[in-house]
Amino acid sequence: MGRVTINKDNKSIQRIEEKCINCGMCQETCANKNNLDCDTCINCGACIMTCPVGAIVPKYNYKEIIANVHDEEKITVISISPAVRVSIGDEFGFAPGEFLEEKLVGVLKQLGFDYVLDTTFGADLTIMEEASELLNRVKKNINLPMFTSCCPSWVLNMEKYHKTDLKKLSSCKSPIGMQGAVIKNYFAELKNLNPNDIVTVFLTPCVSKKSEISSDPNCDYVMTVQELFMLIREEKIDFKNVKDKKFDKLFGKGSGAGVIFGTSGGVMEAALRTAYYLINKEDAPKDFYNLTCVRGKDEVKEAVVDLGKIKLNVAVLYGIKNVNKLYNSLKKYHFVEVMSCDYGCIGGAGNPVLPVSKINIVLDERNKSLYKNDLEQKIRCSYKNEDIKKVYQDYFNKPLSKKSEELLHQNYEDKVTINN
Ligand code: SF4
Ligand code: SF4
Repeated sequence: MGRVTINKDNKSIQRIEEKCINCGMCQETCANKNNLDCDTCINCGACIMTCPVGAIVPKYNYKEIIANVHDEEKITVISISPAVRVSIGDEFGFAPGEFLEEKLVGVLKQLGFDYVLDTTFGADLTIMEEASELLNRVKKNINLPMFTSCCPSWVLNMEKYHKTDLKKLSSCKSPIGMQGAVIKNYFAELKNLNPNDIVTVFLTPCVSKKSEISSDPNCDYVMTVQELFMLIREEKIDFKNVKDKKFDKLFGKGSGAGVIFGTSGGVMEAALRTAYYLINKEDAPKDFYNLTCVRGKDEVKEAVVDLGKIKLNVAVLYGIKNVNKLYNSLKKYHFVEVMSCDYGCIGGAGNPVLPVSKINIVLDERNKSLYKNDLEQKIRCSYKNEDIKKVYQDYFNKPLSKKSEELLHQNYEDKVTINN
């Protein structure tokens, strides 16, 4: 029975050899299962979720992270990804999908992080840049369909298997890439901090992001949800009784649009709300706040969305196997969201590992919980987020400005190849 090859230098995942029973399940799940060459790995971690004995795990960085927290000369700034707030509870006996944002902030403060920020700010910033980029491309009719770029496994899949189409990927860095750039530049200036003393940490549901940041000087560490609960246990913290706390100010709150990034279809819906505004200079109609055509657990969703002056053909897909299979038929769309994991980041391999029989129910609850939070928020569009307005006013001027291009965008041809 074959099993996936995991290179020792892989920055995302590792195998504990003593635990492996050679069952071959990991090979069955692998997005590129016909090829046992480790250079085909896209770091998605799907094998973590299927290994029956827990032999494949994230590459652990939490000990280095906590050493930085304890180093008085370092200023540790941690940012929480959208999906984490609805997945951490599974490890501590909460109901599936329970929204635990303030408890997460509380535990990270108790662990000693200097600043606890919300990556939904980075998600809102991504939307401002990505929606502007999309409208430019549609106007000029170039590099379409535009593919989202916030999932590093999808980006790596493009770099490995669709090299000639790299220009179709949005040039936007992912939300954590943008958040890191803002923290080490604008945030450091405002707080009068030396960027060299700042250690940026990103709490994510994603193992692939560990590889993504390996060539980004603004992002120092990625910690998965699994690592956080190991840390909580080692520090003997009673998570259930941790006091709720609020995010620190300045990038302390994103919009509802930023929150739904954590589920399949969320990036699309968030981008369309802002694209409508950018074209029409007025808020999108009510149905853009419950865009059911791009929501839900179908692996492929498509829609024609009327933005007033233009109509966009859009598609939302998850699962790299699906995307590779359908790749040639995606030409008919203007904008395509792709996520590697089942149901998007709520199904990411850095989340608590779930019994197979419960996966569908739990992912449904996480999905519902993110949309419920979006519905409850006063600000549901990225362009209305006060912190976003401020960062453009004070620093970037406008989306796609010279400074935005320099700090928030990337060029795939120039990018150092991500190591496996
Ligand atoms: S799924 Fe786990 S136990 Fe089975 S071959 Fe892969 S690593 Fe080994
Ligand atoms: S879907 Fe989300 S969790 Fe999964 S690899 Fe992509 S970014 Fe990471």
